[in-house]
Amino acid sequence: MYLSVRVLGGGPAGAGRLNYKRLVGQGRHTRRQLLKAALGGAAGIALGAPARLLAAAQAPGAGATTVQLADDLFVVTAGGINVLARTGTGGVVLVDGGSAATSDAVLKAVASLPGSGPVRTLFNTHWHPEQTGSNETLGKASAQIIAQENTRLWLSTDVKWPWNGQTFKRLPKVAQPNKTFYTTGVLDPDIKYGYLPDCAHTDGDLYVHFERKNVLAVGDVVSGQGWPTVDYITGGWIGGMVGGVQRLLAVANEQTRIVPARGPVLSFADLKTQASMYGTIYERLSTMLNKGRGPGEAVAAKPTKEFDAQMGNPDEFVRRSFESLWAYLSPDA
Ligand SMILES: [Zn+2]
Repeated sequence: MYLSVRVLGGGPAGAGRLNYKRLVGQGRHTRRQLLKAALGGAAGIALGAPARLLAAAQAPGAGATTVQLADDLFVVTAGGINVLARTGTGGVVLVDGGSAATSDAVLKAVASLPGSGPVRTLFNTHWHPEQTGSNETLGKASAQIIAQENTRLWLSTDVKWPWNGQTFKRLPKVAQPNKTFYTTGVLDPDIKYGYLPDCAHTDGDLYVHFERKNVLAVGDVVSGQGWPTVDYITGGWIGGMVGGVQRLLAVANEQTRIVPARGPVLSFADLKTQASMYGTIYERLSTMLNKGRGPGEAVAAKPTKEFDAQMGNPDEFVRRSFESLWAYLSPDA
């Protein structure tokens, strides 16, 4: 049978964008060959105990709270979304800016941090509105806005999610990233950043590594609180979640503190647990896909059951994950 999910609406497959359809189409692999290769990649993952993944939740709309990680490094959280701020004489560096609704609270909290000053640089870990809500304010204030090129492309077009009809309007030019890159970059002696080409969450995910403090900001590639959105319309997929977390494990070490977009600061062990968890789920869903099952059957089979106590109701996550396999592995993609 043909499994023909296609990208339903969403942004145009723009010129220059890394297009997963093209990647899958290369070499004319059959779906079975791709699945076999993908399953082989996941098979080496050691199973571990689920991590403590739930955190002290914060009600949306609440004011910002701050956790200090180092003299000049802080996690500012508003509406349940984390922003990482580094202060210093050269100005503030932010990794993500919160949503538009929480932007004022975030920027006010950042301005009151010890050693704070004007925000000089803002990273967008990906295009989602929970991360890019301060872009316009900071862009107008002449901040440098750094993102992977695919993120800029998504922010310069309208996006629609077919699963719930939600639409996202393109950002005005001043709010779009004004410094983009493809693979890696260095901001200053302490800050290195890189692209996560696995398409874990979107096709424009980046990490920012504060090397001296050994803190790694990872956006939504790692969820510290609840199941993530598998945004296959802008390139994310469940296989990429396995690959993305494994890639982060190679950037980090045993002492690294990992700052996800949501939830508490995580440890290297937490990251390993997530790699294992997503590997297990990916393998189960791929097996079901290979047997010709559909998303409803995947949800009913409860492929995440041993993780649900930590991660919450999995139904939407499983459905999107399964659809993301269609989007990636369909032989006519
Ligand atoms: Zn996201």
